[in-house]
Amino acid sequence: MQGTLNRRDLLVSFTAAGASAIAGAAVAQPAFSPGTAGKPSGPCLSGAALGWNPDKGQYALPPLPYAFNALEPHIDAKTMEVHHDKHHAAYVAGANKALLELSRIREGGDAGLVKHWTRELSFHLSGHINHTLFWKLMAPPSKGGGGQPSSGLLSAIERDFGAFEKFVAQFKAAAIQVEGGGWAWLVLEPISGRLLIVQQEKQQDMFPTGCRPLLGIDVWEHAYYLKYQNQRSAYVDGWFKVVDWTFVQCLFDESSR
Ligand code: MN
Repeated sequence: MQGTLNRRDLLVSFTAAGASAIAGAAVAQPAFSPGTAGKPSGPCLSGAALGWNPDKGQYALPPLPYAFNALEPHIDAKTMEVHHDKHHAAYVAGANKALLELSRIREGGDAGLVKHWTRELSFHLSGHINHTLFWKLMAPPSKGGGGQPSSGLLSAIERDFGAFEKFVAQFKAAAIQVEGGGWAWLVLEPISGRLLIVQQEKQQDMFPTGCRPLLGIDVWEHAYYLKYQNQRSAYVDGWFKVVDWTFVQCLFDESSR
């Protein structure tokens, strides 16, 4: 189990995405396998999926769950390599640095820097969690990527957006209209049990409190520029062809309990 102090650090500054993902992260359990048929027995995401080491109090970069070129031609191999090995790795390092600096403050450092390092923690840890989800939310078309969600999630989408096509159109518009770097997410607002589409600026801002992330697309330019340049719309279209709806359904089932 992680230490009390670390957990408190995490909770005060988490985005909703972070809080929901970490809730199931205390105990390492078998990770969900993307693209598999049927319902998985383990949690969709575990502490192991986030590379969380409770002894060190640090995260580690989890391996990409498929080859760099697995999502070709929709997402190119070079983008996947740089995105995972450089960008995601930097968020992991940034989260660990923020945790370390906050621990130093607790041991007598400058408490005036709590705001700075808490903001750093929110940005980088959200980046780590977002990307860990992002890789698992995609699968090659030959292994289940693309298409539509199965009946349970599909019914909820139809209930809350009118039709699957209307959901896709709104989600795509939300993704295209993110100002600068950020994400579009399908989330479950767990108190009312309603699905929403929201935007997230940078890695963490504008995420409604408590919402559970189900499906998110990274629309930072580093996610698509090598292949799509300024054509974010074409990137979103290509990305929908590799969405692993089985994993989205797993997150939905887990969030709906
Ligand atoms: Mn990214």
